[in-house]
Amino acid sequence: MFRGILIEKDDQGYRASVQQIDDAVLGEGDVTVKVSYSTLNYKDGLAITGKGPVVRSFPMVPGIDLVGVVEQSDSDKFAVGDTVLLNGFGVGETHCGGLAERARLKSEWLIPLPENVSPQQAMAVGTAGYTAMLCVMALQKNGVTPDKGEVLVTGANGGVGSFAIALLAKLGYQVVASTGRVSQATYLESLGAKEVIDRASLSEPGRPMAKARWAGAVDSVGSHTLANVCASMQYGGTVAACGLAQGMDFPASVAPFILRGVTLAGVDSVMRPLADRIEAWQQLGELLDAEVINAISTTISLDEAVSAAQDLLDGKVQGRIIVDVN
Ligand code: NDP
Repeated sequence: MFRGILIEKDDQGYRASVQQIDDAVLGEGDVTVKVSYSTLNYKDGLAITGKGPVVRSFPMVPGIDLVGVVEQSDSDKFAVGDTVLLNGFGVGETHCGGLAERARLKSEWLIPLPENVSPQQAMAVGTAGYTAMLCVMALQKNGVTPDKGEVLVTGANGGVGSFAIALLAKLGYQVVASTGRVSQATYLESLGAKEVIDRASLSEPGRPMAKARWAGAVDSVGSHTLANVCASMQYGGTVAACGLAQGMDFPASVAPFILRGVTLAGVDSVMRPLADRIEAWQQLGELLDAEVINAISTTISLDEAVSAAQDLLDGKVQGRIIVDVN
């Protein structure tokens, strides 16, 4: 038995609580990990509250990210005592995840913790920061260099948004942050935003084409916001789209793509091949300062995680939450 959050769904309804969990719940895997830290992402918020259809089998331990130490291994890739990192691959959705003291995982989902990143820092970054890095890599791959002009980050106070600002600023881009919480402008500027705009200017239905402003954009919001961002890209600009905080719809026209050669680069972190993950984490380790990671993150206990999941969905959380599962 070990302690963790368990999500159950039966005649009594959908519920998540901290409890003693039987090892048999963990499912199959060739590596057993003593989890050190996990984290709360938007998807974990949906899973824990039941507000979105994230969990595919029950009972389920949520937590799409984890870092921990290998306790037992039948894999020649990892030995007992290795510190390993996992983001995504359906963990916390179809296979028990990180919000518990123990996890049993497939070795092909794991990467070694990068040397210049501590376990706590890895969870401060988590899927949100790793996805922000993948978005930045998508802009770089499409030729959006700092000299091309301003880069917009939407959902700026969120996990993806906060890390996208910090990473882009560190790489020398001029970052403009779009947020519904303009009162938090000082925080966003401390991460590297040179200007903060109200998300209301992007979230309502807009014209198919607007004044060309952005050389690049990182969008974690979707819906009308993504449509308006595409409409206001410079000629040849690229939007890295990874999220749906406003909505999953995309009420846009093809005008920006066929008249301005705009690229819409979709970013998925969950099934991303290992080589990209290793590259992204290496860059994260090189680019992020400990002070920035500390400014973006707060640490809570497993017992606090269930109520924090609701706060996350209510847009009350700034930056990232690390969960100390022990
Ligand atoms: P957070 O909850 O931390 O941040 C989301 C932010 O979006 C909020 O802080 C808020 O920013 C903004 N927002 C919330 N509601 C609305 C709304 N109705 N309209 C406009 N903006 C809104 O989530 P994450 O940063 O962890 O994730 C962001 C999105 O990216 C989610 O949809 C998530 O599912 C997705 N995601 C996708 C991944 C992938 O692999 N593709 C991986 C990780 C995340 P502000 O207050 O500044 O306006």
